[in-house]
Amino acid sequence: MPEPYDVLVIGTGVTGLSAARQSLRDGLVTATMESLFFGGLVTNINELDGEFSGSGSDLAAGLMMQITKLGVKNLSAVAQAIERDGELLVVKSDAGSHRARSVIIASGARLKRLGVPGEAELEEKGVSRCADCDGPFYQGQDVVVVGGGDSALQEAIVLTEFARTVHLVHRGAKFRAQQHLVDRLGGHSNVEVHLNVQIEAVLGDKAVRAVRFRGGAELSCTGLFAYIGLEPESGFVPEAIRRDAAGCIETDSSLQTSMPGVFAAGAVRSGYGGLLSHATAEGMAAAISAAEYLGRQPANPVR
Ligand code: NAP
Repeated sequence: MPEPYDVLVIGTGVTGLSAARQSLRDGLVTATMESLFFGGLVTNINELDGEFSGSGSDLAAGLMMQITKLGVKNLSAVAQAIERDGELLVVKSDAGSHRARSVIIASGARLKRLGVPGEAELEEKGVSRCADCDGPFYQGQDVVVVGGGDSALQEAIVLTEFARTVHLVHRGAKFRAQQHLVDRLGGHSNVEVHLNVQIEAVLGDKAVRAVRFRGGAELSCTGLFAYIGLEPESGFVPEAIRRDAAGCIETDSSLQTSMPGVFAAGAVRSGYGGLLSHATAEGMAAAISAAEYLGRQPANPVR
């Protein structure tokens, strides 16, 4: 039987990659587990703002390059369960079981769906989840973006480059997005804001042709981008690990879950701040806590 890993990180978004980098710097034998592609949701963003610059893919690729040089073991598998086996933890996956002395859950989150008729049926036929990837297909067309948070405004701004009109549809009277995004959006003449309205159906046969609001009014469009928040990727997390009502994992101040030796960080964690800098910081903090749990002295993370 192979030696257990010191740290097994589930998820390779910015949080998981940052956690793995810290564990490797601490000299711990570290593996990551990811089902498909590394990088997570950030790879859908072409131009990061705030404390990072460049594209999300570049950021993720840079982190992956660093952990590869440091000797990470990348496991391509879908995590299905976490169990305790004496002193060790066992992560069960579709590609077999992997033993570790500690586990960091950094499985992130996925975009929520509106859950209205027509949305699922017209997925990839006008219903999109990535403005940067699909924006060019909507050159000169009318698109609807749903939501009033940072994601909706950020992605609406991206779509102004391509669409004739970007209709930003928000159920509330006020955006909750950061003010700089509200200001930037206001600088685009091809944006129409619709407040206090909710979509009850996506219409179209082979492709999106309109959305219908509660009350019956229709708005013509060929693209729909819903950015109405995130839901955690925590389906594989066992009952023994406490979660909040939204399914996000609860942790103590050291980011340890209710299962000793299992830590959680980033968008899957209850109380996550939401910014990229939080993802990085939480990943590193969870790795430092895992090192302490293993009785190892963490390296200085500030370099
Ligand atoms: P969010 O902040 O949770 O905002 C979700 C928005 O969708 C809210 O305006 C909400 O309306 C609306 N909404 C929720 N459910 C809805 C429904 N069923 N129908 C219609 N509208 C609905 O989500 P997010 O914008 O995806 O952001 C997630 C996290 O990532 C946040 O922490 C955010 O700060 C962060 N983020 C940061 C950046 C950046 O720094 N550039 C970019 C993207 C995301 P109400 O306002 O009425 O509740």
